[in-house]
Amino acid sequence: PILEPNSLEFTSRSPEQTRRLGIRLGSLLQVGDVVCLSGDLGAGKTTLVQGIAQGWGSLNAVSSPTFVLVNVYHRPTGEHIYHLDAYRLQSALEAEDLDLEIMQEQGALIVEWPERIDSALPRERLRVEMQYVADEQRSMLFRPEGEHYVRLVSEFRRRAFGG
Ligand code: ADP
Ligand code: MG
Repeated sequence: PILEPNSLEFTSRSPEQTRRLGIRLGSLLQVGDVVCLSGDLGAGKTTLVQGIAQGWGSLNAVSSPTFVLVNVYHRPTGEHIYHLDAYRLQSALEAEDLDLEIMQEQGALIVEWPERIDSALPRERLRVEMQYVADEQRSMLFRPEGEHYVRLVSEFRRRAFGG
């Protein structure tokens, strides 16, 4: 596949590495940021979010939100991460009741299964696509949409890979 110039592709070789990469990403996120996580069951999305929440400074533990729709993680300074699993939503129409804008005002928004509610999400976002490769190996593709996320990815690249 032809990669977009600002995208970043890399491999994780263990759940711990995925968590560490999540910590890097979480430490760079700001209030208002939107991260869309795609990938099949077992791709490592929730593992990555565990790292993101830790990097954000969150005090509470991450669980899979599949049965509760939204989990909220908060850091001592008060900003939240909203972790939304759209798997059970049928359309963007259902997402309208969720007040995504308010979540975005108050924190960062992380969405699993974003394709379910695509038109309800802001166009500018960081797309993260995860794929199972082998037992402990997962490929990760960061695709920034919008200048803000291009900068975020290049800062992530610099800190995570020193390049
Ligand atoms: P998802 O949320 O995408 O369904 P999870 O993070 O819940 O995925 O589960 C991923 C599973 O794969 C976990 O059991 C985790 O331990 C395992 N795993 C093995 N290698 C990796 C890796 N490199 N990165 C993330 N998870 C991995
Ligand atoms: Mg999950």
